[in-house]
Amino acid sequence: MGDPSSPTPPRAGPSPEHSPDHLARRLGERLPADRIAAGKAERLCYAYDATQLNALPDCVVFPESAQEVAEVLRFSNAQRIPVVPRGGGTGFVGGSVPIRGGIVLSLERMNRIVEIDAGDMLAVVEPGVVTAELHRAVEAKGLFYPPDPSSAASCTIGGNVACAATGPRSVKYGGTKDYVLALDAVLPTGELLENPSRAVKRVAGYDLTRMLVGTEGTLGVVTRITLRLLPLPAEVRTLLCAFPTVEAAARAVAGAIAGGPPPRACEFMDHRCLDLLREQGNLDISRDARAVLILETDGSAETAEREAAALADRCRKEGAIEVREARTKDEVRGLWAARKALSQAMYEVAPTKINEDVVVPRSRLPDLVAAVDGLARKYDLPIVSFGHAGEGNLHVNVMVDRADAARYAKAEAAVKELFETVVALKGSVSGEHGIGLTKAAYLPIEAGAAGIEVMRRIKAAFDPLGVLNPGKILL
Ligand SMILES: Cc1cc2nc3c(=O)[nH]c(=O)nc-3n(C[C@H](O)[C@H](O)[C@H](O)COP(=O)(O)OP(=O)(O)OC[C@H]3O[C@@H](n4cnc5c(N)ncnc54)[C@H](O)[C@@H]3O)c2cc1C
Repeated sequence: MGDPSSPTPPRAGPSPEHSPDHLARRLGERLPADRIAAGKAERLCYAYDATQLNALPDCVVFPESAQEVAEVLRFSNAQRIPVVPRGGGTGFVGGSVPIRGGIVLSLERMNRIVEIDAGDMLAVVEPGVVTAELHRAVEAKGLFYPPDPSSAASCTIGGNVACAATGPRSVKYGGTKDYVLALDAVLPTGELLENPSRAVKRVAGYDLTRMLVGTEGTLGVVTRITLRLLPLPAEVRTLLCAFPTVEAAARAVAGAIAGGPPPRACEFMDHRCLDLLREQGNLDISRDARAVLILETDGSAETAEREAAALADRCRKEGAIEVREARTKDEVRGLWAARKALSQAMYEVAPTKINEDVVVPRSRLPDLVAAVDGLARKYDLPIVSFGHAGEGNLHVNVMVDRADAARYAKAEAAVKELFETVVALKGSVSGEHGIGLTKAAYLPIEAGAAGIEVMRRIKAAFDPLGVLNPGKILL
């Protein structure tokens, strides 16, 4: 874990010019009063994300337009006050935690779906739109926005763009970055970068849209997003395939997918996940099952059924001991609810979850699960794994108590070794959560010294004074 207290300028200090009241007054000269909150209770609500790390901002601002975002950034740049963009606060790497104090810029009021264009098959949205709301809105028009992070009920499209979020459906459809056609963003210096293009392709100089996706609020604040849409598939089929060992399930992922069109989802849960779900009565599955895959197909009724049958056959050939189809809407909902309940259920094992979202080429998944098992034994720590296995993406959760310093240090050593292993397997330290604060110390393992240096130059070109989300990605 990166240390939230390591020094990174600039810092809003405790001097009177940077006190919450003073800051609120100065901002009040530029914005309507209801856009600003400086009370302790309100600031506490914007101090954390899903990592449970927290740091109190000096002020929270709720802009309602790109012009208001630009006002805040012009002011903060001139005063060298840190600004931390925030969407739903569901990030898993401390990206929206204001570790240097300053202003949290919450995009939650910029939450309009501006337009859904069925002809050009695109949507134009503000960054604070909650992902699941966009799903519902486009599906009501027979359209489909595939990126579906498991946090969709509370994360925002702006946060998804900033983190290049993916989800179960990415194995077939790709992630957020594959759907962003254009972006408007405010740069740390306060300039508004507008891209009104609605074309599905474009080769016009440096691709600043792609450049901004996945930069975790360190290069610009995304204020408007144009997203590509697809037709809504008519039918979805959902299978649960149980395997006698974790290794067999990991091997089956590559085997099941290799032989045909990619499934719409291919999610993996290991034996510890199954034990937790059984204990909580969330999944009815035989005791012989030590790992499961949830597989989905979609398309026309005929296609979804044919592909599901072929996948079931391939899983049986790969050693599945049970293949079951969820036939009713309730059964399908129940399976996904169990999968989504995992994130919370894990706290039964220990109070602190170090959740790493490593990714390897699909064919190396068996090596990764073997390595994770080896780490659990070597460091004598419970490690629970699940994830979007169809993409080789595994959430490796090292369960520990942060208050137990000795065990926490062991967990950190295990995590470092995990990262070295995935890079050796030609994977990546992050498949979807990003680097933020908690992985910044490990980015050099993957990016190398030259890669880090180029990233520093890019950061300096966008943010010469280092005011936007300091201390994230680059230490
Ligand atoms: C239970 C749970 C399940 C999850 N499942 C998944 C999953 O399946 N796939 C996945 O990819 N992630 C997953 N996540 C992680 C998280 O939900 C995603 O990273 C999500 O994209 C974060 O969106 P947010 O709106 O909550 O952003 P926040 O957490 O508020 O911010 C995340 C980062 O984006 C920046 N940011 C936010 N808005 C903007 C903006 N408008 N402009 C510029 N920067 C901005 C912030 O500064 C920060 O660095 C999960 C998290 C939880 C808690």
